[in-house]
Parts: sequence; C-alpha cells; structure tokens
Amino acid sequence: MSTPRVAVVTGGNRGIGREICRQLADLGLHVVLTARDEARAKEAARELVAEGRGFVVGARLDVRDAESVRAAFASIARSHGSVDVLVNNAGVAIDGSGHRPSAPDFSRVEKTLDTNLYGAWRCAAAAVPFMLDRGYGRIVNLSTTMASLELTTTSESPAYRVSKVSLNMLTRVLAAEVEGTGILVNAVSPGYTRTDMSPKATRPVAAGADTAVWLATLPADGPTGGFFYERAPLAW
Ligand code: NAP
Repeated sequence: MSTPRVAVVTGGNRGIGREICRQLADLGLHVVLTARDEARAKEAARELVAEGRGFVVGARLDVRDAESVRAAFASIARSHGSVDVLVNNAGVAIDGSGHRPSAPDFSRVEKTLDTNLYGAWRCAAAAVPFMLDRGYGRIVNLSTTMASLELTTTSESPAYRVSKVSLNMLTRVLAAEVEGTGILVNAVSPGYTRTDMSPKATRPVAAGADTAVWLATLPADGPTGGFFYERAPLAW
C-alpha cells in the first residue's frame, strides 16, 4: 500500500475549507486542518474524525503571520514526513457593494491583500521546497468568478477582486516556475456557496469544495496554471 499524501488546508475550521478537509480525508489523504485559532483547528479536526472521516489533525496557521506559516510547515513536514498538497483556502471578503474603487478604505484593502494574496503566497513559498524534495505537489488557490477580468462589469468589492485576480496571476507564475518538477498549481472558483461569507447563497459546500478537491488530487498528467469552475476551465 502506498503512503498517503499529506494535505494542508488553510482556513479549515469552517465553510468551504472544512468541507475540503472532509472530502480529502474521505479520499484517504492525511489532512492537516489548519486555522488561525489552534483550539478551533483541533476541535474541527476532532469533529471530522468523530464523523469517521479518516485521518485529520488540527494545527495553528495564521496566513497573515509569516512566523506562524514558517513554523506550521516545518512542524507538519517533521511530524508527517512531507507536504504533498496545499489548499490555499483561507480568505476574507470585507468590502462589498458599498465600497467603491474611487474611495478606497486602505485598511480593508491591506487586510484583504495580506490574507487573500500574501497569505496564499507565504504558504506556497513555504510548501514548495518540501514538494520539490519529493518531486510531487498539488497547490490549489481558492479564487472566485469575481476575479475574472473577462466577466467583471461591476465596481463592487474592489479589494476582494484585486486580491483574487492577483492570486490568479500568482497561480500562473508559480505554475511556470515549477513546471516539470511534479508540482501542479491551479486556481479554482468554488461558485457562490452557502457559508458565513455568503449566507444568502444556496449552493451547498459539498459542491463548492468539489473542484478544489479534484485539483488537489490530480494525476501527474493533470493541468497546471489553470483557472477552473465545476472541473472545467473558467475565463481569466
Ligand atoms: P468563510 O466561511 O468566511 O471562511 C473563511 C475561512 O478563512 C475561515 O476558516 C477563516 O478563519 C479563514 N481565515 C481568514 N483569515 C485567516 C487568516 N489570517 N489565517 C488563517 N485563516 C484565516 O469563507 P468560505 O466561503 O468558506 O470561503 C473559502 C474560500 O473560498 C475563500 O478564499 C473565499 O474567498 C473563496 N470563495 C468563497 C465563495 C463563497 O460564495 N462562499 C465564492 C468564491 C470564492 P476564522 O474562522 O478564524 O475567521
């Protein structure tokens, strides 16, 4: 029997991230469910194990805190032997329809970029050396259809859109850097999914998590540098 892959999911304590942990564990991966609050990470992991979901452990990882990111990846690699999969799920959406790009609230813009872009970037940079060592890696960035340049016609949520369109570019440049090493890097739109972030949505988290889980478990000849929704390419 082959050794299970080790998957690290950020923001795994609730919403789509928690469901991604659930589905990855169901597929037999060893899941490290991370959250910025260690107690909430461990509690969520315990609940998934109690549901019979296989191997899930909780760990602290605040994507805005570089030292927390460094320590988390070093500890995970030490305890679990590798980091094979990274799902950059943690995110905030704190500027909605009332926010206009011509009147920026830069405290919100900075927090949004620090979480959604730099947070994912810090985690990817921490994970890639472990993946290169093993010649295997899957990095999945949780983006959004709201980051599609082609599909955007509104001024709403400027910081959120800017953060995620930048995350899309990070996906492309990182995929180009590691091409041929066994590491595949892709972005996904989960769709408008019912969570604390989108309480009015009707799409269940199981559907929102599905494409991220597919990208996290791609075969060696799978796509890289792509942007997907419902397991199909989405317009950049
Ligand atoms: P959510 O329910 O609001 O959950 C967000 C998660 O991110 C929480 O676990 C939160 O942790 C975590 N987080 C925030 N800041 C963090 C930090 N500094 N360090 C670590 N974790 C942090 O959101 P969701 O709907 O599940 O969204 C998950 C991802 O999908 C996000 O990237 C979002 O942009 C994207 N997305 C969602 C939708 C949608 O309709 N739901 C649509 C498109 C894209 P705390 O509990 O500690 O706050």
